[in-house]
Amino acid sequence: MNRRRKFLLASVLALQNSSFIYPSCQKCFSRIILVSKRSNCPKCGFTGKAENANYRYRLSLKVAESNRLFGITVFGSCLDAFFGLTATGLHRILKTSMDKVQVPATSYSSAPTTKEKLKH
Ligand SMILES: [Zn+2]
Repeated sequence: MNRRRKFLLASVLALQNSSFIYPSCQKCFSRIILVSKRSNCPKCGFTGKAENANYRYRLSLKVAESNRLFGITVFGSCLDAFFGLTATGLHRILKTSMDKVQVPATSYSSAPTTKEKLKH
């Protein structure tokens, strides 16, 4: 994992990915594969129950800083404060509401255009 951290003050122009949470490995944070009630990490081999899977934020954003455009990806728990809950908590709410109404609750077409301080 890259330990260098930079702060970027930029305007968010667009959200690039509609699915911004993913099931993540408890050990290495890689995307895990959920197959019939089991989870499996292709990277480190960690296995567990699918119902206990942790979720992680992954936001791909197009941002503007001064006159330059950047494509950045923001990962992990630094987004908890932005969303007001953890990715696992958000997934639980989305899953519950998707069970009630059959709409793609994870699809959003617009992004906030406010200035946000982002960890890169
Ligand atoms: Zn892993």
